[in-house]
Amino acid sequence: MSAVLARRALPPRLVFGVFVALLAVAPLVLPEFTVTLLNYIGLYALVALGLVLLTGVGGLTSFGQAAFVGLGAYTTALLTASTTLPGWLAWIGASAWLALVAGLLLTALFAVVLGSMTLKLSGHYLPLGTIAWGISLYFLFGNMQFLGGFTGLSGIPPISVLGEPIDTGREIFYLIWLFLLAGIVTTQNLLDSREGRAIRALKGGMVMAESMGVNTSAARMTIFVLAALHACASGWLYAHMQRFLNPTPFSLHTGIEYLFMAVVGGAGHVWGALLGATVFTVAKQWLQDWLPAIIGQAGNFEVIVFGVVMIIVLQRARDGLWPPLARLMPVRAAPRRIDAHAPPLARRAMPAADETLLEARRITKRFGGLVAVNDMHLSVRAGEIVALIGPNGAGKSTMFNLMSGVLDPTSGEVLLRGQPVAGHSAREVAALGLSRTFQHVRLMGQMSVLENVAIGAHRRENPGLLVGVLSGAWRLDRKQEQRLLAEAARQVERVGLADHMFEPAGSLPLGKQRLLEVARALAADPCLLLLDEPAAGLRYLEKRALADLLRKLRGEGLSVLLVEHDMDFVMGLVDRVYVMDFGQKIAEGLPQEVQRDARVLEAYLGGIE
Ligand code: ADP
Ligand code: MG
Repeated sequence: MSAVLARRALPPRLVFGVFVALLAVAPLVLPEFTVTLLNYIGLYALVALGLVLLTGVGGLTSFGQAAFVGLGAYTTALLTASTTLPGWLAWIGASAWLALVAGLLLTALFAVVLGSMTLKLSGHYLPLGTIAWGISLYFLFGNMQFLGGFTGLSGIPPISVLGEPIDTGREIFYLIWLFLLAGIVTTQNLLDSREGRAIRALKGGMVMAESMGVNTSAARMTIFVLAALHACASGWLYAHMQRFLNPTPFSLHTGIEYLFMAVVGGAGHVWGALLGATVFTVAKQWLQDWLPAIIGQAGNFEVIVFGVVMIIVLQRARDGLWPPLARLMPVRAAPRRIDAHAPPLARRAMPAADETLLEARRITKRFGGLVAVNDMHLSVRAGEIVALIGPNGAGKSTMFNLMSGVLDPTSGEVLLRGQPVAGHSAREVAALGLSRTFQHVRLMGQMSVLENVAIGAHRRENPGLLVGVLSGAWRLDRKQEQRLLAEAARQVERVGLADHMFEPAGSLPLGKQRLLEVARALAADPCLLLLDEPAAGLRYLEKRALADLLRKLRGEGLSVLLVEHDMDFVMGLVDRVYVMDFGQKIAEGLPQEVQRDARVLEAYLGGIE
């Protein structure tokens, strides 16, 4: 009986509705103290929610969020409580809501400036950068006379809603949780949209995402600004709840606590933010009450306990407490519906039959003293399948990266449809009609096959960053989303993966992951497909299916350049072959000719193969 119950899943909407109903009655029945605690949980969760987007999903660690909370709090305090503001500013302070808008704009400005300075930093420099500005802003709040210094600012008025002042804990509870729920829903929506897929590709898929036309720097800036805005809104609510401010809650220490909440709750999931904030706030309250009594001495013992808990969580549940909790709950979303009748995406005009699509002219690439590619020439015409073969270490992948704009040649040039590739980003090269797969598959393992392929079509629907983010967050993008997903589904079917459409990409065997990469490349509507060792790891029948697929694509006017060292796969399939060894071209021609070439035989038989 219990097994049957466990399998009968509840729709997420119903569970969400019950949760909202419970929240609605909570302040009516709970004691004042509990309502206050819930208010703090809501405020913290709003900041942690920004960190879910920034750190958990985007992979950018920030210790400085408390400073953005402070920015929101001090902006509204100054505008609404100060009596000495010049007239052109004072009118904003007439309404706390106007002050919120001002705070959000100021925070966005700060975030863009700080982000453009720190987001380029990689590895541990980014977290260090956030610590640096976290500390700076804190001391700015503390040392500015007009902000009340370390003693603080008082006389902040309550927020008014429809002329009614929100001046009790029970009233502001509704406002805080409305903000939090709106944040959770919009963040969830955003992650489930075109921009969201770009954001989710940041963690571990930057080169792939750029090659699919995703502007990864814009995606990083987006989540940085969004996280700061969430923090600012929390600060605004806090200031009008407390009606008094000093710099203490905006210190680096609090910034670390926010990160702690997000990580413990589950930084990869929107509900992890709420869980983390709840666990943290309740535990802190409880420990502060009990630890001194148990130990028999006053002190901040809870900090020590939190440190230990953090280490245990990182050891035992890397992804935080939310994923194991979610597995226990009988809530399952139905799989996405794909509208096969959605209007198809626009396609590019295919090149004329004899056009030279890609031409590498005398290119050389040196890595320090090593000449990986030496004076290579290569061309691909429309409607051809061309192979670049050679033993391991011959320079094939380097050649491949030179042609797709990932690397720039030391000398020589690569022309794609007559345009030089050098100096263009992988993204611009993708826009010209070149799409690629990777020798070592680059997939987002947690995302479904369908969503992975949809990243390929990213460039083909571009409403602009701001519209894309806002329409994604508020679900105004569903028509566009249907078109993108329908296209992705078509490509998934085209490569024969229809049965795996909604499975996580990481659960597929390697051969199918390679096919997924082909589907993703096709979703970009290329005229030239670059495949790096597509047959590696494929079984015999899979290889035959792939060869059939490539022939079919050629029949549709697509050109393919493939890098392989599997001679058998190449010989029955391709129109022309280039053979490389030690960075140089040692043969070129029809497959039968090349197969008999003495230098090729020597390279293959005498070489590593
Ligand atoms: P293939 O794909 O034909 O096996 P590669 O193009 O990967 O060969 O490598 C050619 C040579 O260039 C190898 O000796 C390799 O070690 C070297 N190489 C490739 N990439 C780099 C790099 N980023 N830095 C230094 N050496 C590299
Ligand atoms: Mg290689």
